[in-house]
Amino acid sequence: MVAEAATINAQRLLQRIEQLGRIGRLPEVQGGGINRPTYGPAWMEARSRVAGWMSEAGLAVRVDAAGNLIGRLGSGGGSAAAIALGSHIDTVPHAGPLDGAYGVLAAIEVADALRRAGAQLRHPLEVLVFADEEGRIGGGLFGSRAMAGLVEPDFAERLTDVGDAMREAGLDPRRLGEAARKPGELACYVELHIEQGGRLDRMGIPVAVVRGLVGIRRFRVAFRGQANHAGTTEMRGRRDAALAAARFLLDFRERILEKGEGVVGTVGVLDLEPGAVNVIPGVARLEGEFRALEAAELAELEAETARIAGVAAERERCTAEFELGAWDPPTLCDPKVMTALEAAARPRLRAGQEVPRLDSRAGHDAQSMAHLCPVGMLFVPSLGGYSHVPQEATRAEDLVLGAEVLLAATLRLDQTL
Ligand SMILES: [Zn+2]
Repeated sequence: MVAEAATINAQRLLQRIEQLGRIGRLPEVQGGGINRPTYGPAWMEARSRVAGWMSEAGLAVRVDAAGNLIGRLGSGGGSAAAIALGSHIDTVPHAGPLDGAYGVLAAIEVADALRRAGAQLRHPLEVLVFADEEGRIGGGLFGSRAMAGLVEPDFAERLTDVGDAMREAGLDPRRLGEAARKPGELACYVELHIEQGGRLDRMGIPVAVVRGLVGIRRFRVAFRGQANHAGTTEMRGRRDAALAAARFLLDFRERILEKGEGVVGTVGVLDLEPGAVNVIPGVARLEGEFRALEAAELAELEAETARIAGVAAERERCTAEFELGAWDPPTLCDPKVMTALEAAARPRLRAGQEVPRLDSRAGHDAQSMAHLCPVGMLFVPSLGGYSHVPQEATRAEDLVLGAEVLLAATLRLDQTL
């Protein structure tokens, strides 16, 4: 088949990563790295650069009502449902060059390789560049949520800062609802991304298939004791809310560790009241979260976290109020898509290496797209596990290998979906 001859232009992929990484770069005195918030001037410049590269690859390019950039190749003969590849080009402040941008640029190389080889696909191919994955507005995954029909159509109108940001980018917030795609328009969505953690780097394996994206449960605890004079109150008999919180932090970590490798938990906020150095803390408020791929595990942790808060409070003669907060359910990748990704990755590993199946501990656009169509994700290693910082890096050969796997997987999915 002609498509067998399709190959990734490795040099150009690496060059474009470098070129895109120059847009929105901050000077060292300002902390360095890249800053491309969605709808801002640097993001607009990056998007038009990417749109140009899409056109060069033979894609028909359009921007939807949320500002997502969509490139489409081919009409797809018999089947109208497109195979979609993509990611995002917005960044956190002081970002590295790969988060999101890599998946977008690799997808364009896949499209270009297929066009150059004259491949006749059964499905159209789409390259999707999502707006605001990082959450400048609307809490993250804004563009993909809009495409998946998960954003209320009047959302941007109701929130003036969102509406203003959209208008700045030449968009009409009243038309946001038009970004929603119909079920059946996409056969699948596949996202190639850097891992952003250190697991693959430690394993020495260049690519992994993602099993799913972890669910996140947030919680708050308020420990209440008795504020009193730090000098005149005897040590025995105190009701120090900070000590209850301290016991909780250690117990919480033990519970998470007992769950094994797939689960993480963090308490990132801790406030003491009244917050004076000479007053025993009467109230300690904390906010935390845990993440896991299995919904049952998350439910179990909710109950256990509430219980250990109660035990910690009791031991310090305090009380605990436990409250569940925001909830992001786990997203599972599609078994058929995972099989195709795995089959595409296996021949590129060294003898004796197996394709790891990893959970994603970070959020990605694939999460929203899972509401619309089957999804899959590939990870390449992040050197040292660094991401969302300027030193974010991946070996050049791994970046190229990831794009080659994406190309091979696209051909497989075209046959199997
Ligand atoms: Zn990303």
